[in-house]
Amino acid sequence: MTKIMIVEDEAALVTLLKYNLEKQGYETISVMDGKEVMNTAMTEKPDLILLDWMLPNVQGIDLCRDMRKSYELRNIPIIMLTARGEEADKVRGLSYGADDYMTKPYSIPELMARIVALLRRVQPEQRQENLSFEDLTMDFAKRRVMRGDRPVHLGPTEFRLLQYLMEKPGVVLSREALLKLVWGGSIHVELRTVDVHIRRLRRALNEGGEPDIVRTVRSAGYALDSTPSDEDE
Ligand code: CA
Repeated sequence: MTKIMIVEDEAALVTLLKYNLEKQGYETISVMDGKEVMNTAMTEKPDLILLDWMLPNVQGIDLCRDMRKSYELRNIPIIMLTARGEEADKVRGLSYGADDYMTKPYSIPELMARIVALLRRVQPEQRQENLSFEDLTMDFAKRRVMRGDRPVHLGPTEFRLLQYLMEKPGVVLSREALLKLVWGGSIHVELRTVDVHIRRLRRALNEGGEPDIVRTVRSAGYALDSTPSDEDE
């Protein structure tokens, strides 16, 4: 079930939104206090967030920026709901990481349509799109990885690790970040587990004697890179 998180301090609006979203078959959670937004989003992992700009104590756009900085929350689509109507506000909202922007009073049918469109935009298409880096390709439909003409055999965990590395080639991902991304931040998984799976991933990728493209950055993390460091094991 698609879960939508409503961040709004006006009780009447929360009621209205909940009613309409649930009528469309969405599961809803609501947060009225801006200070609870980050924690609730981390715990609930909503599929989409409706975010009010004007909240007591905290600005919606600051939350938006914080969520985009967070490895756990950065992929959650956000629609900013605001009484501010200036074009500059819209640009600002989007530049802080919102995916869409609606000005109050908004039409409920239009909001519902925007939600459907945004979910479609970010969810299935993102997964269907194949990734490639150097001689490496990741095919999501076939759930297959090729290095040149050679199939690379990966378990589901290594597949997911590689996916995140391939999404940002050259960018160093910390072990903590990879843990959160791949394992959902489970407290039962140790950081060393990431190293173990990276080693397995690296072995599978280099099985054919190809150059190593997984870079280990001491005390920082891992990256996909065509010029691996000499720190590799
Ligand atoms: Ca408000």
